[in-house]
Amino acid sequence: MKFFIQSRNDDLSNRLMEKAKKYLVDFGLVLDEENPDIVLSIGGDGTLLHAFHKYKHLTRSVAFVGIHTGHLGFYADWKPAEIEKLVISIAQKEFEVIEYPLLEVTINYRHEEDSSVYLAVNESTVKSPDVTLVMDVELNGKPFERFRGDGLCMSTPSGSTAYNKALGGAIVHPSLEAMQLAEIASINNRVFRTVGSSLVLPKHHTCLLKPVKGPDFMVTIDHLHLLHKDVQSIKYRVADEKIRFARFRSFPFWQRVHDSFIDSDLKND
Ligand code: NAD
Repeated sequence: MKFFIQSRNDDLSNRLMEKAKKYLVDFGLVLDEENPDIVLSIGGDGTLLHAFHKYKHLTRSVAFVGIHTGHLGFYADWKPAEIEKLVISIAQKEFEVIEYPLLEVTINYRHEEDSSVYLAVNESTVKSPDVTLVMDVELNGKPFERFRGDGLCMSTPSGSTAYNKALGGAIVHPSLEAMQLAEIASINNRVFRTVGSSLVLPKHHTCLLKPVKGPDFMVTIDHLHLLHKDVQSIKYRVADEKIRFARFRSFPFWQRVHDSFIDSDLKND
């Protein structure tokens, strides 16, 4: 089996990376940055997001596992003290693979035939770089609302506990193949009206954003912030690809939600 280790690049993460690398090579695994079967991310959730984007062309074959060197993460849920146990389990292939849905983002431009297509693990947001964002929102090809405000956030189920949660969106279990549209500070009065609630859309539904004002937009894809010029439309759908995680033990999603937001359980700190 081939592996790669992505570190957040702080002292603790780098020390753990060297330790894990030595153990895995001693167990006969091969370090292969180009084409790994398993990627060990050491740092935080952000480190795992970076690792995913590095290997997004290998979604069908690569599996991720995360160790947190800060607080308990949603993707980085192994403690540094468990590294030996984890490495032995990887070497003995004692894991199953679970898959979480991803978001597909397609950006079309006014004067270009080529579009940009991205995959997001957490979410994609759209904001205007200078003025209030004004976007027509279409669901499955039908006009739904005209949005005015700071921005819009479309999240995956596993991303629903990230930015989406701060926007008052619902937490969605990652076994549901869905995406969630949340508003970022919409302007709502007698003249301007949006639905106000987050919308959870199933697989095969599409959400199209069409600019009403200004052709340039800040579009985020997880941690990536990109300015897109001359945008004609931004389309969201649940992607056909999924992110694969190597699972070595049961740590149910609702337990992670509890431990992260309600009461941290000492065994997972
Ligand atoms: P980062 O790695 O510092 O992440 C920011 C925080 O979000 C960390 O505490 C991380 O643990 C947490 N996080 C990431 N994914 C999560 C998830 N799926 N569930 C629960 N918590 C999660 O910063 P970054 O590298 O820029 O990460 C980008 C992410 O930051 C974005 O995907 C977005 O979700 C999040 N973010 C959150 C807010 C907010 O909550 N107001 C605003 C901007 C971005």
